Amino acid sequence: MDNSKRKPLQTIIITGTLGILIVIGGTAGFLAEQKKLLDRLEQKQACFLDLVEFRGRLIEFELSRKKTFRNSHAFSKQDKRSEKKAASLLFVYDKLLTDLKTAGLQPLPSLTESREGRVVISGLYLENFLSELNKAVEKSETETKKATGELVVINEFFLFFILIMLLTLSITAGWQLHRNYRRTLIPLAQLASQMKLLNRNIPESIHDTAEEIKKELTGTSHSSDITQITESIMEFFTEIEAKNKKLDEVNIRDEKTGLFNYRHFKEHLIIETERTKRQGNKVSLAMIDIDHFKEYNDRNGHVAGDQVLKTLAELITSQCRSSDMPSRFGGEEFAVLFPNTDSGTAREIAVRLRKAICAEPFENEEYQPSGQLTVSIGVATFPRDAGDWRALVENADRALYSAKSSGRNSVVTFASIEKEEPARNET
Ligand code: GH3
Ligand code: MG
Ligand code: MG
Repeated sequence: MDNSKRKPLQTIIITGTLGILIVIGGTAGFLAEQKKLLDRLEQKQACFLDLVEFRGRLIEFELSRKKTFRNSHAFSKQDKRSEKKAASLLFVYDKLLTDLKTAGLQPLPSLTESREGRVVISGLYLENFLSELNKAVEKSETETKKATGELVVINEFFLFFILIMLLTLSITAGWQLHRNYRRTLIPLAQLASQMKLLNRNIPESIHDTAEEIKKELTGTSHSSDITQITESIMEFFTEIEAKNKKLDEVNIRDEKTGLFNYRHFKEHLIIETERTKRQGNKVSLAMIDIDHFKEYNDRNGHVAGDQVLKTLAELITSQCRSSDMPSRFGGEEFAVLFPNTDSGTAREIAVRLRKAICAEPFENEEYQPSGQLTVSIGVATFPRDAGDWRALVENADRALYSAKSSGRNSVVTFASIEKEEPARNET
């Protein structure tokens, strides 16, 4: 696997395991070496003590030998008491030789000589031997001190080794975590920056967080929290969602009146006629046009005219059910779609609406030809009055113009035109 692609956790585990194995191996090696040194130190210390003791016994032996055989240069093993002492000394001597060898110390010179077929401890030899023994004692003491020093050094080295290992492990783990931190947070910070570019109205907090994190990642402190950036991203999405909703509303609403716009109305008109066809139901459409609106505009100006459009939109909405669809068809014309509504009910609603508009006091309406601001309404119903949505609009329009031609301020249904009924104003 490529090193750069290796997961940080995997690297930390591998490095950690290797480090622990090295520490365990190193510890075992050092402990074994330390034990060896300790054993040799003990041997050397024991030899040193034995040598000192042997020297004491030998001096004592020589003093007693000199007292007994003042004029003699040799000591015979045949003397019973001395023989016993000599035998004991030689025994200790042999043992000492073996111990010195084991402890890695220099062997002692010979203590005995062979005379007339007998092994004797020579007086001459004894003097030389004692001086050699003194040297051996000194040497042994030096060696013991040296071994103690070695032991101290090896212990110090061992501690140093453990410290280095721990340091290496900490640095490796820390570095890996740092890399992981950078790998995770830098892309997130970049993402937040990109989101900022995507939407100029993005909350400032996201931009600030991204900048802060960038600074922190390049600096020494890593106090930044991943929660902070996650929260910023969530905030961003909530914002986007709210904006999308707003955008949807803008897309389907008419800016001036707040009613549904023509595009949305048409989409629903098609959907509703299709559904009605499938379900064998009815859908009605009312087309509403302001009477003599040009005159109103000419007299009062377009701003006042716009206010009339807004008030009418409110009145239309107030008369509609939640399932109905009040829309601005264009100019001073409105269209209201009544799903699952027959012609009679649609007409009733239209009449109610016309009366409400008639009763509403509009500014300067007294200058209108009829003395008040009124509307004319044409109603058509699918499928009775039309075979498709286009025909439904056209026939509702026809009914509307029938209402216009019959004197305005009235509601006319397409059915009544077809029957050639005289258009009538409701009371
Ligand atoms: P009728 O009774 O025959 O409908 O007469 P009318 O004057 O209402 O009909 P006409 O088609 O001659 O005039 C429609 C007027 O509606 C003309 C135009 O200035 C006005 N109008 C259309 N859209 C707007 C608008 O958004 N705001 C304002 N203030 N007036 C508008
Ligand atoms: Mg018109
Ligand atoms: Mg008009």
